[in-house]
Amino acid sequence: MEVLLSKLYERNGLTKEEIVYFLQHLTPDLKKRLFRLADETRKRHYNESVYFRGLIEFSNFCKQDCMYCGLRRSNLSVDRYRLTEEEILECAAEGYNLGYRSFVLQSGEDFRFTEELMISIVTSMKVRFPDAAITLSIGERSEAFYRALYDAGTDRYLLRHETASRSLYESLHPGMSYDNRMNCLRTLKDIGYQVGAGFMVGLPGQTYEHLAEDLLFLKELHPEMIGIGPFIPHSATPLKDATGGTAQDTLVMIAMARLFVPDALMPATTAMGTLDPTGREKALSAGANVVMPILSPLKVREKYALYENKICTGDEASHCRNCIEMRITASGYKIELGRGDHCSFLSTSE
Ligand code: SAH
Ligand code: SF4
Repeated sequence: MEVLLSKLYERNGLTKEEIVYFLQHLTPDLKKRLFRLADETRKRHYNESVYFRGLIEFSNFCKQDCMYCGLRRSNLSVDRYRLTEEEILECAAEGYNLGYRSFVLQSGEDFRFTEELMISIVTSMKVRFPDAAITLSIGERSEAFYRALYDAGTDRYLLRHETASRSLYESLHPGMSYDNRMNCLRTLKDIGYQVGAGFMVGLPGQTYEHLAEDLLFLKELHPEMIGIGPFIPHSATPLKDATGGTAQDTLVMIAMARLFVPDALMPATTAMGTLDPTGREKALSAGANVVMPILSPLKVREKYALYENKICTGDEASHCRNCIEMRITASGYKIELGRGDHCSFLSTSE
């Protein structure tokens, strides 16, 4: 185990068999050392900085039917909403006034937000907030769409691969294609976006082998951002009786991903904070270095339920910022409100 931990830290890689062995034999003491090495690695690339992204959840309509997600189209109990372009801009303005210079626009796969409308939203945001970075997280679209939105000024795109195992992917995504998901990620990279991939921990049927495949896939793709969160079962989905992921297992994967892809920007997810009141702080000390406070209007927050009991759905944007700031400073990290580009894209932020 010592040899594996050293190899992971010094060479930033292990074989699939080594990962599985490592996960099977992880002791509490080794886990602590793994977290420390991940924290050290993150500090080497991004020091103590924690980057803020304001999250705007602008539509909960979705044409997909992912088995784990509360927004899946078969869930008829969702009260669906769409923000208008003006409302999205108001949210961003509120965030901008609070100091945010990085925004993430996220939604279900809602094709009412056409290429034309998305271009208009991104263009208006770039005019009003020229020094802010814009990230989209709106699912699978065509290459032409991705290109047009990039040309309109979008900086980044988040599209988790969810699981790198084809069979597990197919069992969770009826009507979707594993190859298309992978192709979207590669296309986004080719176009020049800063790309975010990532996966859930604790999916039903997920084994150590599957998790090893996720880490190896991330190493190969080398995305600029990696989102890893626990799967949290939602009562109105077919996976309502599943066990779900634990905060501890997720922390291990965050730390390992940090060592596999040392220069990645990695969020301490809201899902981590939902499972454990100090889950986000723990994620920060296990290699994560981004937080995404929610800026969506209070009246729609509860409706954007990918999973249930999500934290922060009742808090004002300013309250969210203060609460997270306090937690980060108390953990010994430093708040960064700038664009927060990946270290290899820094020239674009000057
Ligand atoms: N529709 C877009 C973006 C919104 S979903 C997309 O799918 O890419 C954002 C992420 O939420 C997904 O990538 C998935 O990893 C996560 N998610 C969905 N349901 C979840 C659940 N029940 N528990 C934890 N994370 C979930
Ligand atoms: Fe839609 Fe994304 Fe949820 Fe899948 S994970 S159902 S694409 S919102």
